[in-house]
Amino acid sequence: MGTERWTEFEGPCLCGKGKDFIDGEAPDHPWAKSYSPHYKCRTTCEECRANYGFEERDGAFYRVLKTEITKKKKNESKWHEKQREIEEHVISGGYHSQLARRLNALRSMAAMHRVLAPLVYAGSLNSFRNDMKSAGSVGEWIERHVHGTDWSRLAEFLGIQDSALQQKTEQASKLWQESQKPLELLNPPFYSLRKD
Ligand SMILES: [Zn+2]
Repeated sequence: MGTERWTEFEGPCLCGKGKDFIDGEAPDHPWAKSYSPHYKCRTTCEECRANYGFEERDGAFYRVLKTEITKKKKNESKWHEKQREIEEHVISGGYHSQLARRLNALRSMAAMHRVLAPLVYAGSLNSFRNDMKSAGSVGEWIERHVHGTDWSRLAEFLGIQDSALQQKTEQASKLWQESQKPLELLNPPFYSLRKD
């Protein structure tokens, strides 16, 4: 199966010294209709590349300031950093073992799943059983599936009073919200897929 490629758009960059492109790509086979094409924007202009990037939103293509993109990336990496900080904190505080003891005291996988489902993303009961089997122990399952931000709910569940932990989870959720804010786009869109 091949891939069909085409130039969806070609036009001057923002400063006018170079060109911006939208390249289209789609699998080239009889069932291709069920796949939506994929688009990638690029510019040939060094100057503009330093100043802006691109974003597609609902079939419209916008330019977006590099400073916006950098800000978003920075917030994402701060969030990851905070997650790691929380994980280190809960391990050194013995909270992983505390959670493992609580879960091990339950009589069945179904009971564990019932307890965990509202606290941590545990999947369906079936996938939980499989994950537990592949982890080999409750402790290992916690290592693999419990993440930093889960500890705001888990601390409450375990009755842990730890203001440092609470502060960290609050910071993490703020950073997450910040990183999920939509980028401020430069209006108007320079190209739209909608032909109306
Ligand atoms: Zn330019």
